Amino acid sequence: MSVLIFADQADGQLKKSSFEALTYGVEVARMLGTDAEALVLGKVNDDLSSLGKYGVKKVHHIANDNLNLFDASTYTKAIAEATNTSGAKVIIFSHNITGRAIAPKLSARLKAGVVAGAVALPDLTNGFTVRKNVFSGKAFANVSITSDIKIISINPNSYKTVAGEGAAEVSNLDIAVDAPKIKVTSHDKVTGEIPLSEATIVVSGGRGLKGPENWGILEDLAKSLGAATACSRPVADSDWRPHHEHVGQTGVAISPNLYIAVGISGAIQHLAGVNRSKVIVVINKDAEAPFFKAADYGIVGDVFEVLPKMTEAINKMNGR
Ligand SMILES: Cc1cc2nc3c(=O)[nH]c(=O)nc-3n(C[C@H](O)[C@H](O)[C@H](O)COP(=O)(O)OP(=O)(O)OC[C@H]3O[C@@H](n4cnc5c(N)ncnc54)[C@H](O)[C@@H]3O)c2cc1C
Repeated sequence: MSVLIFADQADGQLKKSSFEALTYGVEVARMLGTDAEALVLGKVNDDLSSLGKYGVKKVHHIANDNLNLFDASTYTKAIAEATNTSGAKVIIFSHNITGRAIAPKLSARLKAGVVAGAVALPDLTNGFTVRKNVFSGKAFANVSITSDIKIISINPNSYKTVAGEGAAEVSNLDIAVDAPKIKVTSHDKVTGEIPLSEATIVVSGGRGLKGPENWGILEDLAKSLGAATACSRPVADSDWRPHHEHVGQTGVAISPNLYIAVGISGAIQHLAGVNRSKVIVVINKDAEAPFFKAADYGIVGDVFEVLPKMTEAINKMNGR
């Protein structure tokens, strides 16, 4: 009754969130007194035995071309087969875009209870209970899974990734996989940017920046910190910034180590997507802006004065 951890790839490269899921799953296995094994789908350029450094003993690889690109139905079927083959009783995903799509489908297919968006290790003192955020991060729920097979998707940036030494055994799983029913005819990819979902630091702008022509000062700050850029919804709706940068209830939900909100009022719909960030810094000229209530650090000031000074100070600190 091993723990199976899904290690997610894109373009043949394992995602950073997979390493967190692996570390988390290995600890779950340790708590249950069993082994942790990883599952990788599709063509991968990385050396899969290197996943042993996160503590997994074995990596199951289904190197089928039909799995090179993500497709929720095809992936679900392949993972269900791999679960049955490996005899795993606990399956771990990252609660990223892939995990969010697959975990519920797999739950229905395997008749397995699922906790989506877990924020802590399971509590085994009285069954199998997992903590997750509810009401846009305003409260916690402790959810008990009573089914034979259990599925957890771990919220990105909730568990510290630990890498040590070691090599895992790689086993090729020969599972027949049909071609996806949905054919992707083209990809419109954003390149050269840090993906929001993988970013540990995010600098985000709101209407306080007044217009797209002023985004240079925000990008300079982001560059000095090695951060991704994001924005509030009205900014994306006004075409100041692309829609994939919009964070919040109706946009991307993120949980970086550091979220810097620049000229954003802090409406509840915005907070819903960012309030799981570890540290929130708010820069706003209005000392009464609601965002300050959710902030760890606040700067009351004009963004056009504060941002260039911050960038200069950070660059100086880093000897640039
Ligand atoms: C169903 C629904 C879903 C929604 N989903 C989302 C969502 O997912 N994400 C989202 O962001 N919003 C969402 N909204 C919109 C949300 O309610 C707010 O309207 C929006 O977040 C406000 O964006 P903003 O803070 O950029 O703009 P504003 O509310 O206009 O705030 C601008 C802020 O900038 C400050 N400011 C102005 N000038 C300066 C300056 N020079 N220096 C410093 N500070 C300055 C102001 O004091 C103000 O606090 C949703 C709304 C609804 C109804």
